[in-house]
Amino acid sequence: MEIIELVREGIRDIPDFPQKGIIFKDITTLLNDPELFIMTMSLFEKSVKGMDIDYIAGIESRGFIFGSILAYHLGCGFVPIRKPGKLPAKTFSESYALEYGTDSVEIHQDAFKEDARVLIIDDLLATGGTALAAAKLVEKCGARVTGIHFLIELLFLKGAEKLKSYPVESFIKF
Ligand code: AMP
Repeated sequence: MEIIELVREGIRDIPDFPQKGIIFKDITTLLNDPELFIMTMSLFEKSVKGMDIDYIAGIESRGFIFGSILAYHLGCGFVPIRKPGKLPAKTFSESYALEYGTDSVEIHQDAFKEDARVLIIDDLLATGGTALAAAKLVEKCGARVTGIHFLIELLFLKGAEKLKSYPVESFIKF
């Protein structure tokens, strides 16, 4: 079986989490299996070949896992995009609508050096609200979004349309 198929089959569906009607795509079953973890990271690593990136910005919390490993392997910086109230220094903030509820995300105002090229990483693209807010935060800091890469995309929620002004990639589509 191809890597992409093995990873797809390793993702666990949890119905009605965190609320009724949502099928939660659980990636902890990719993380607790050493072979699947390596295969998952290989998909991210293949997707950045040839890209010029100064920083990976990971979206809390599952974007931290994949994003920080990728940054470490690429030898570039890692910047966390966090839920409100978690970052200690001066922040910029952006609100967005989630598949379930509303929320906002924050970034440190001085996270990037001037004219930085930033790749945003998260585990899953649903409505695209979180990633769009993350991209706006990167731009508020004066940096450039060179791409937004996801492990999983829920096609029926059409999140890619919301992100159409950015290069978007996802590896496993449902
Ligand atoms: P959205 O802003 O609608 O694109 O939602 C994306 C964020 O919410 C990501 O950080 C995902 O981890 C999380 N998320 C949304 N829907 C799901 C889902 N069905 N399964 C797992 N995570 C989800």
